[in-house]
Amino acid sequence: MRKIVGFVGLLGLCACQSAPMATGQTPQASTPQVQAPQLPSSMDFSDPTLNLEITTVAPGLRYVLGRNVSSNTIVLDTAAGAVIIDTSRPPASKAHFDLLQAAGVTKASHVILTHGHGDHTGGVVLWKGIGAKVVAQESFGEFLGYQRMLAGFFGRRNAAQFQFAGGGGAVAGSAPVQQGPAANVLGIVPDITFRDTLDMDVGGVKLQLFHTPGETPDHLTVWVPSLKAAFVGDNFYESFPNMYTLRGTRPRWPLEYIASLEKVLALEPEIVIPSHGPAIVGKENVRAQFTKMRDAIVFVHEAVLKGMNAGKDVHTLMAEIKLPPELDVGEGYGKISWSVRGIYESYVGWFSGDPATMFPEGRDSVSGSLVKLAGGPKAIANEAMLLIRQGKLVEALHLTSIGLEGAPGDKDVLRARVAAFEGLVKASTNRNELGWLNQGLAEAKRGLQ
Ligand SMILES: [Zn+2]
Repeated sequence: MRKIVGFVGLLGLCACQSAPMATGQTPQASTPQVQAPQLPSSMDFSDPTLNLEITTVAPGLRYVLGRNVSSNTIVLDTAAGAVIIDTSRPPASKAHFDLLQAAGVTKASHVILTHGHGDHTGGVVLWKGIGAKVVAQESFGEFLGYQRMLAGFFGRRNAAQFQFAGGGGAVAGSAPVQQGPAANVLGIVPDITFRDTLDMDVGGVKLQLFHTPGETPDHLTVWVPSLKAAFVGDNFYESFPNMYTLRGTRPRWPLEYIASLEKVLALEPEIVIPSHGPAIVGKENVRAQFTKMRDAIVFVHEAVLKGMNAGKDVHTLMAEIKLPPELDVGEGYGKISWSVRGIYESYVGWFSGDPATMFPEGRDSVSGSLVKLAGGPKAIANEAMLLIRQGKLVEALHLTSIGLEGAPGDKDVLRARVAAFEGLVKASTNRNELGWLNQGLAEAKRGLQ
């Protein structure tokens, strides 16, 4: 199905998008797994190969909206063939490719990768197959090397966090899992790279590429002056940025995000197509959304520095720092509390100042004593259930962690842990948080078998 969306239609869409919880523009966006009507589009758990459509934003500019944490595939037509920006993740990448092929995109001159995460690079081989040269920022190769070095670690962590059912494929730094043409995304070698900027003329269409680190060190932004259109990858989506992602990451520096958003703002775009979520159209609309995101990051960064200098510990700041309502950009994907800790520890590392934490013996070294003092694991489980009834689900979860450290495999503690997880799953509106909660729930249930 092809959909043409005029500026008026998109402006209407984007007005609701300024509320960061807006879902994507596809009418099929709601899925049976979506828990409530106001959930962010990051909570789309549908099959990413289904209900795809091509949206035309301006003459010669269209995109396929990626679903379920798969990137958009953006197409810019030129006389020399299509310029493709990002290629989605397997198996969506093949579905995007097939849909665009059927719509006449049969010749590609370039694939520009906004960064080296697997949810953007899954279709590179397909586009290369019809002639595309691969363009990336200079540190793309080094960034893939980092992911390759830790492929085992990220493979496990991504499986837990993203919970893709059957063949969802690799995203965001995992080892490639799909055989065939989409495999080996961590071995991509770009044909063209640049350090700070690159000017291209493709079939008479001028493009400018900028290095805009943020979500990753190799991140780039594409600017097409003739359309006043910017393609910003994952430096902007409908949520506070995932400045620390739970699957693990090197620091994502807030000052880099801020500088990169300002670089985009300075271009005064009339169209922005991020690599996740729908196009944002209208100069004022773009300006308002990007300014708000920048100011939200500035606010959090400054609050962390202020708290650190005042001697506050990281957990206090994780609990304390909240965005004021006018800067609320949503937390469907990134979370303020994780970013607070990410910023704190990016600057100073892991040592809390409590001398007990200098040593290899962690909390688990005394959990056995604590369980004994409590009167055994049954007492721990009862207290956890009491906390759950009081709505203190996280506290109950902590207690069961101590209980299982002190009494591994204890069924009473595991039952309380399942109850805590079930409550937390029900309440969660953050994609990544939900992944880890479901992972913990499944592990606790396995322990009960
Ligand atoms: Zn992405």
